[in-house]
Amino acid sequence: MNVLVINAGSSSLKYQLMDPQTKEVLAKGLCERIGIDGRLTHKVPATDGKYEFDIPMPTHAEAIQAVLDALTSPDHGVIKSMSEIDAVGHRVVHGGEKFSASVLIDEDVMQAIRDCVPLAPLHNPANITGIEACQKVMPGVPMVAVFDTAFHQTMPKSHYMYAIPYEYYEKYKIRRYGFHGTSHKYVSQQAAEMLGRPLEELRLVTCHLGNGSSICAINRGKSFDTSMGFTPLDGLPMGTRAGNVDPAIIEFLMEHENLSAAEVINILNKKSGMLGISGVSSDFRDLDTAVEEGNERAILAKDMFNISVKKMIGSYIAEMGGVDAIIFTAGVGENDRSVRWDICENMEYLGVKIDPEKNKYRGKQMDISIDWARVRVLVIPTNEELMIAQDTAEIVSKLKA
Ligand code: ADP
Repeated sequence: MNVLVINAGSSSLKYQLMDPQTKEVLAKGLCERIGIDGRLTHKVPATDGKYEFDIPMPTHAEAIQAVLDALTSPDHGVIKSMSEIDAVGHRVVHGGEKFSASVLIDEDVMQAIRDCVPLAPLHNPANITGIEACQKVMPGVPMVAVFDTAFHQTMPKSHYMYAIPYEYYEKYKIRRYGFHGTSHKYVSQQAAEMLGRPLEELRLVTCHLGNGSSICAINRGKSFDTSMGFTPLDGLPMGTRAGNVDPAIIEFLMEHENLSAAEVINILNKKSGMLGISGVSSDFRDLDTAVEEGNERAILAKDMFNISVKKMIGSYIAEMGGVDAIIFTAGVGENDRSVRWDICENMEYLGVKIDPEKNKYRGKQMDISIDWARVRVLVIPTNEELMIAQDTAEIVSKLKA
């Protein structure tokens, strides 16, 4: 079965055509500058081919059409016709409380995704546009929505509520939702395989550390707590996001800098985190270079990041009453050995100890703990597209059965 995985943003659209059984990626790419002019980058892993085209993309529909043309092109295509695409899996950021698993898209599901727009005003409209564009260009092809929030719907109420008047939960559904669910779920399944134990027996802490970062306590296969909240702004300091701050800072800044609430939130989202502290960059590679040069604010930014992750890991171990493995994933978690080292330093008392030699590897699935460590520390490259394709294939094959 070939599944086309679509991740639609407001002016971009990422795609991968893959076979979820063999895990082979036939082609992947990116449409950028949708609504401005339009640019397609198309890659074919089997031949190492990379193709770039300027194609007018006034809307997402033209972008999807360009993707289908690229996939079926006699020159750089990987399938003969669109009929070789059996299903489409769409990444959808917010499923609210309605979705605790991936679903086949029908009109009711579309309405429910629209109902979640107030919860994710930047993301869900783009996801909806992507789905509608596909429906227009590929009528009759089954489509599945895979939500970033769904995996976290198993959190106990005491973990997802904010201690604000209860009526705001009832009225507006203000609560912790959590994000990156597809990634946390994927790496937890991989971890169980690596450890050779059933997921249902394991207590895991998964650290998705990238440009956006979140941590998840996965108790016997279920999300038990997670660091992102009502929005992805909560939790750890990230590339440009502040993470947790005292909410009173918002009013203080509004008053003293003469800013609106939206302007302060924008600062907390786009100008804070590693960028705001270091003044150098939001990118960890740039920070690492600055740290090597002795830049004190870059050192401070990374120390703040590492200690926040450590604190979160500690609280999740306490919540679950123990831990079998800590998993690092995403751009920083998979690649930045100094981050992994600093986070896991002085945790021998918990049974955590990284082997400095094994920690030198980058982007490779492996156990980096020393042999005697009771708690395994694993590096697992995430693969959200594969998870989306597998969920899509599972739902669509039931449909055909
Ligand atoms: P997102 O998907 O949230 O945009 P990624 O998971 O791709 O982010 O992570 C991007 C981050 O990973 C960047 O800060 C980047 O610097 C960092 N990163 C990628 N490669 C390395 C590396 N070799 N060493 C350190 N950090 C890296």
